[in-house]
Amino acid sequence: MCICVNCKHVDNCTIYHVVEMQHQQPHITNNPDFKPNEPSINVNISSTGNFVEVEWDVFDCLSFKEEKGRWSTLHPGKLVPT
Ligand code: SF4
Repeated sequence: MCICVNCKHVDNCTIYHVVEMQHQQPHITNNPDFKPNEPSINVNISSTGNFVEVEWDVFDCLSFKEEKGRWSTLHPGKLVPT
């Protein structure tokens, strides 16, 4: 799972903005301006028949600041993207 969902910066982060696009999630903000320090992204590619799925997950980031459930607080009632 992407560590961003438990990060204080998730609502204003330029990298998470890109991850949202990859997960086809609506943007929390259209104008993020926080630039994280050295995020590391894991890209998984899987295919089923003719369908190819690409998933991006941030697994390390020097700017990570833990705030458990931050994404869920911003999206009440929604399941955390996996
Ligand atoms: S972990 Fe890093 S990339 Fe993810 S939201 Fe936080 S600052 Fe941005």
